[in-house]
Amino acid sequence: MFASLSDRITGSFKQLRGKGRLSEADVDGTIREIRRALLEADVALPVVRQFTASVREKSVSALSSQALNPAQQVIKIVNDELVEVLGGDTRELNFASRPPTVIMLAGLQGAGKTTLAGKLGLWLREQDNKVLLVASDLQRPNAVNQLQIVGERAGVDVWAPEPGNGVGDPVQVARSGVEHGRQNHYNVVIVDTAGRLGVDEEMMEQARNIRDAVNPNETLFVLDAMIGQDAVQTSIAFRDGVGFTGVVLSKLDGDARGGAALSVRGVTGVPVLFASTGEKLEDFERFHADRMASRILDMGDVLTLIEQAQKAYDEKEAEDLAEKMAEGTFTLNDFLAQLQQVRKMGSMKKMLGMMPGMGQFRDQLENFDEREIDRVEAIIRSMTPQERRDPKILNGSRRLRIAKGSGSTVQEVNSLMDRFEKAKTMMQHMSKTGGGAPGMGSLP
Ligand code: GDP
Repeated sequence: MFASLSDRITGSFKQLRGKGRLSEADVDGTIREIRRALLEADVALPVVRQFTASVREKSVSALSSQALNPAQQVIKIVNDELVEVLGGDTRELNFASRPPTVIMLAGLQGAGKTTLAGKLGLWLREQDNKVLLVASDLQRPNAVNQLQIVGERAGVDVWAPEPGNGVGDPVQVARSGVEHGRQNHYNVVIVDTAGRLGVDEEMMEQARNIRDAVNPNETLFVLDAMIGQDAVQTSIAFRDGVGFTGVVLSKLDGDARGGAALSVRGVTGVPVLFASTGEKLEDFERFHADRMASRILDMGDVLTLIEQAQKAYDEKEAEDLAEKMAEGTFTLNDFLAQLQQVRKMGSMKKMLGMMPGMGQFRDQLENFDEREIDRVEAIIRSMTPQERRDPKILNGSRRLRIAKGSGSTVQEVNSLMDRFEKAKTMMQHMSKTGGGAPGMGSLP
């Protein structure tokens, strides 16, 4: 999903990384790259313009505020803007105060409406709703049958016109379906409607008539994320022709370039509520703008991490620390202080889990013992100030005393000292190369 957009945008940060100071020209270079990436991903032009203008303005003002790590600031600004474009906070479905809640599905033929009816049905049923699917798509041959199959798989009931009744009247089916739902105490009635291969007035009129007949609490517009640039026009046609209260992006599992996802909210003003990510009923999720942005930026949840770090560290402290790391004058005392800061940020396990690329270490992470930090602290606290400053003086008898004092073993003391020396060398190296975690510059 969004692989190439993701590569392009994260690639555009590379030129910022490792720079202590950024100029406007640096920012402009990155923004030019982002602009190209968005256009190539078929994001609508007005959305691209708004996006890049806003990122530029905020980045330039961050530059002038002499922020601690300008590259990180720019990345955060891009992330926040992505979240904004993708719709900000996730909105909940609107439920009727008196059931049944009526949800109408609209969209082009092949967008994934019938499939979605099943997915949504299953999802709602799992939340203890009694769900009825109504087959008002009488246009496409086999659509009624398909809805029945999907309903059965989802374990929800289906209201369909009697077979052999000819073409039938979709508006009538919708009305009687909702009435059946009301009388039989269904909480949610999902009305599947017909689509066409292209937008046409007859389809819009039928959808409007169904809408007026059932008075839905939500009209969900199902948009195939794979249709690229047509997404914008189709969305506008449906907004003006039928109107909708939420968007469902389907086929996000394919190699969708991202344009539809990034444009639809900006162009129509209506939020994306769900994402459909495969042909199976389970391939369905709430659409979270922030998580989607994280996926696009390939960042794990580094932003929360940065925010927590910003809360725990004051800038002066962080600068001193970075300097010590770079010079190799980082002592065990600094390490102890550092541990205490890190603690302020919350659970170590959770923090490590927010690092990008940590997915592959999930098992090790699970086994991480928070008490390890207590042991390390106890060992350092059992050292004299001189020992903390200059660990080279730690001979065998000193190590034995420290082990006894901290309730640990000499091996544990040795192992900590080993790791400390290694970490010190690594930190020095990282400070020099400006490396660190991908996309992060050097996090204090
Ligand atoms: P409708 O005409 O809008 O009702 O569309 P359908 O629900 O019949 O879906 C059209 C085709 O797209 C079917 O072959 C579905 O299996 C497929 N489809 C629907 N949603 C998804 C999805 O999220 N991912 C993938 N890969 N295929 C999907």
